Amino acid sequence: MSAWFISFADKTGSRGVTVVRATDPASALRMVNAARINPGGEALIVRIPPNVEAAMAGWNMRLVPPAEARRFDREHPNLVKANEDVIPETYCVCRGCNEAQMISCVHRQ
Ligand SMILES: [Zn+2]
Repeated sequence: MSAWFISFADKTGSRGVTVVRATDPASALRMVNAARINPGGEALIVRIPPNVEAAMAGWNMRLVPPAEARRFDREHPNLVKANEDVIPETYCVCRGCNEAQMISCVHRQ
């Protein structure tokens, strides 16, 4: 099991983010769909380390609005900076496939 941070966005900006515990990115997105919290748009799915997951406590399986996510970034500058220094394991599902729930589109960035 890993923790996955999922960010949903379209051309106009963020549609929100969430955190899911799952074995792989496709399972993580399936769980988001089953919980009916997928806001559509392109999905970026990033494996996050335990310290980041701990800081995001309360985001699990909840669609966090963009303003709340931006506030988190402002309030945790050191955490954001530290994670920019590691090469993230990131996956992407394009907007069309995400909105059609075509999980097979999940691919490594
Ligand atoms: Zn696709």
